[in-house]
Amino acid sequence: MAGQILALAALFVFAFGTQSPCHAQPFSFPTANHALFEKGGEERFFVGTVGKSWESGTFGCVRSDGWQMHEGLDIRCLQRDKHGEPTDPVLATADGVVAYINKRPSLSNYGNYVVVRHRIEGIDIYSLYAHLHEIRPDLKAGQPVKAGETIAVMGRTANTHEGISKDRAHVHFELNLFVNERFASWYRKSFPDQRNDHGDWNGQNLLGLDPRLLLLAERAQGDKFNLVNFIRGQTELFRVLVRKADFPWLKRYGALVRANPRAEKEGTAGYEIAFNFNGVAFELVPRAASEIKGKSKYQLLSVNDAEHQKNPCRRLVSKTGSHWELASHGVELLDLLTY
Ligand SMILES: [Zn+2]
Repeated sequence: MAGQILALAALFVFAFGTQSPCHAQPFSFPTANHALFEKGGEERFFVGTVGKSWESGTFGCVRSDGWQMHEGLDIRCLQRDKHGEPTDPVLATADGVVAYINKRPSLSNYGNYVVVRHRIEGIDIYSLYAHLHEIRPDLKAGQPVKAGETIAVMGRTANTHEGISKDRAHVHFELNLFVNERFASWYRKSFPDQRNDHGDWNGQNLLGLDPRLLLLAERAQGDKFNLVNFIRGQTELFRVLVRKADFPWLKRYGALVRANPRAEKEGTAGYEIAFNFNGVAFELVPRAASEIKGKSKYQLLSVNDAEHQKNPCRRLVSKTGSHWELASHGVELLDLLTY
């Protein structure tokens, strides 16, 4: 029997070369709830906010009449104990390494939460699982985890005044890009009076992608799904020129940098950066000094009006009359990105 299996394995290697015959998809659901993939399954997958429809549990400008961002998915629980408390295992969405654990629920509106770092196609992407009842006791920062491995039990911890009721029990699930490893120092300098209990793992240093779109794209494209292409395919909200040639995002997300022969020849004096509505820098083009007009640190080059009408809630740009400018939140994002 073992010999037969070996022979079969050899046949696979022969038939498919060194490529894996069954290419695993990078991301999977963080709980057993897969209703997102069923027709009309959204009601069973998402939990809305109190008195609102399931859409308010999705990613985007879905809160406060479109003016408040929800940076993850609120995924409904499937199983409960006799007291009605959620008991769903929470699973790592992909292979990775535990990056951060918060076991002090009173310090965050996320309650108990775990962040896992994944390296996929050269991209550092961070999954986050929040409102957990219990985090697996042996789990520590730096520990490797496998896709589908149980890391916690779903709960409803949060430090918010209103809390999370039993019927709204869910895991809040995010997929983020990491802005700057010097965040803690930037934050101290920029907000000297504010507390930062989570170091680099402050929500401001993590920029979410829409996990629903990502999971659906993966399902539709199968083996052809490509994370870099998914990120490059974001809808542009605005484009800025920054007079800085070196900042952490360029190294961490080098796959998003486009070639420019002129900058290569003359030297790079700055970057033209395209952002989506949530502030994800998804395309960066080096620019030579001879291509840069004006002297300002940040130059707003363009704004996509239609996208701003659709997704204005991060307030990164604003319009006065017919004139667009970077709003204070936009300037803050650029300061952190280039710090
Ligand atoms: Zn949430």
